[in-house]
Amino acid sequence: MRIEQHDYDVIVIGAGGAGLRAAIETRERGLRTAVVCKSLFGKAHTVMAEGGIAASMGNANPHDDWQVHFRDTMRGGKFLNNWRMAELHAREAPERVWELETYGALFDRTADGKISQRNFGGHQYPRLAHVGDRTGLELIRTLQQKVVSLQQADFAEHGDHEARLKVFPECTVTDLLKDAPDGRIAGAFGYWRESGRYLLFRAPAVVLATGGIGKSFKVTSNSWEYTGDGHALALRAGAALINMEFVQFHPTGMVWPPSVKGILVTESVRGDGGVLRDAAGRRFMFDHVPEVFKDAYADTEDEADRWYEDPENNRRPPELLPRDEVARAINTEIGEGRGSEHGGVFLDIATRLSPDEIRRRLPSMHHQFRELADVDITAEMMEVGPTCHYVMGGVEVDPDTAASGVPGLFAAGEVAGGMHGSNRLGGNSLSDLLVFGRRAGIGAADHLAGAGRPAPRESDVDDAARRAERPFEPAAGDAENPYALHAELQQVMNDLVGIIRTGEQVRDALRRLRELDGRARHLAVEGNRQFNPGWHLALDLRNMLLVSECVARAAVQRTESRGGHTRDDHPGMVAEWRRTLLACSLGRDGVRVDEQRQPPVRPDLLELFAADELRKYFTDEELAG
Ligand code: FAD
Repeated sequence: MRIEQHDYDVIVIGAGGAGLRAAIETRERGLRTAVVCKSLFGKAHTVMAEGGIAASMGNANPHDDWQVHFRDTMRGGKFLNNWRMAELHAREAPERVWELETYGALFDRTADGKISQRNFGGHQYPRLAHVGDRTGLELIRTLQQKVVSLQQADFAEHGDHEARLKVFPECTVTDLLKDAPDGRIAGAFGYWRESGRYLLFRAPAVVLATGGIGKSFKVTSNSWEYTGDGHALALRAGAALINMEFVQFHPTGMVWPPSVKGILVTESVRGDGGVLRDAAGRRFMFDHVPEVFKDAYADTEDEADRWYEDPENNRRPPELLPRDEVARAINTEIGEGRGSEHGGVFLDIATRLSPDEIRRRLPSMHHQFRELADVDITAEMMEVGPTCHYVMGGVEVDPDTAASGVPGLFAAGEVAGGMHGSNRLGGNSLSDLLVFGRRAGIGAADHLAGAGRPAPRESDVDDAARRAERPFEPAAGDAENPYALHAELQQVMNDLVGIIRTGEQVRDALRRLRELDGRARHLAVEGNRQFNPGWHLALDLRNMLLVSECVARAAVQRTESRGGHTRDDHPGMVAEWRRTLLACSLGRDGVRVDEQRQPPVRPDLLELFAADELRKYFTDEELAG
């Protein structure tokens, strides 16, 4: 079989914020870089980001600095975060935002001309730089503009725009290739979505920047690309995934009409003053402030409302608790019968800001509700409920270099694990993409210095092509339809491994996943490889099933509740579990989960917290140490 072939120094898989920032770095370091993305160039989750990018620039409150941001991030993740990643992220985020301005970004401004920063859940000070509620669009536009300017420089020097940086849009990578079974990265195998033609990339370094896994769940804010491809590619290549039990359910997705269920309602609505109400109009979040956050959150409406004008002398409104807390609270209200007609609760901005202010600060939300739900949010409340939004788990990486355990394989952005611990704070993803996208680019460049040019094995390329063909030649037996199987998978994950789980439910999910996995061998698609969405989904399902198994296996093993993992049969947070990470790897017998010790937090970082607070999270032995 003749396969289109390309040689590069670095392959970046994914063209969202993490991938583009990594590619800019490798190209600026003189490396020939390919950016491969399965969607159109510019269509990634990054473009959908609404509320903003978190960075302690101190524009809205001069007390903000990287230490406060670090503290908030660790608290949000319930101290399960990789502390070194959280430190690098907090220290470097402001520089990455200012750098975006040098690429041409135009953020909203304060009255005195600085970048405006807004409030978000779990952030002590207003910290999210934003462009209305369309921040991701500006981020992607700016990074793409930087790519184009680098390509223009290459044209001036080499007479070829794509001499050192080329984008392969609408091209899906299905396999990573190595030079020996346990060896170094040597390239990647994929196909053009339109023609179905195969491609082989040869390169000594690959940066995974493929985003998350949300399409394994029925109700999600994520779009069709989020099928866990990068997670599965890394596993199959021999890397480990950590923290897969932690899946973030954003508290506010649309619930009505059914066709738009799950679409995100940005946290900026609450950051800008929006409050949550039950069916009787009661502001219920005051009933749901957990013990660990009691000191920092208001217990009356008066104090909560005063905070917007005078944050120094009042405590924060409980609507701005971290997302896991708010999502659980909404779930409880609905479960106990105080929810709305369509199974949600109400989000009220109409009584809190003037119509003009709502249209100015939240233009996308105004448009979204008017067009999709026939609701005018300047006059009416929004009906909202939890939606699967983000995966905290991902490829285990070195915090400084973004290197995985496989030589030559790097990961950044949502596909990487560790940074956010058990729960991500809003706004901390866009900053994560830039900080660790850049670091992954540097890591890949440094790796290249001593890497040589490992060659993919021909037999592996043949195997990758054969695997891709399987849905055209399914195993004997009843043929399975990829759309039907996908719907069943989403239902299982939603019902049994969702926002609240029990051990029994997750074990049931594992049984069903095994059964679905068996049936997946009989996936059958008609026609040929030319633009064939059924075939694309059949290939994606292989990844979704594998990654869902990791989520379920880790969820059954962690017998506590923390952040984005709530076990109804183990409702408390257990200090001993804080220092244990669950690492998934792929062995001969399938997915295995190993317990792994967290590295102890560096003492100077621990000193940023009061002893009383640490006692809520750490074991006596750790505290004594
Ligand atoms: P993405 O931006 O999703 O890019 C992934 C890329 O990988 C895409 O180009 C995709 O095509 C490609 N890809 C995937 N699989 C393959 C494959 N097999 N082969 C080739 N290419 C592949 N975070 C914030 O910090 N602030 C916010 O305000 C915010 N708002 C959000 C609003 C919404 C509606 C959503 C869904 C998320 C929001 N987030 C926000 C989260 C944040 O947007 C994402 O976590 C982040 O953009 C992920 O970036 P990424 O670069 O890791 O992946």
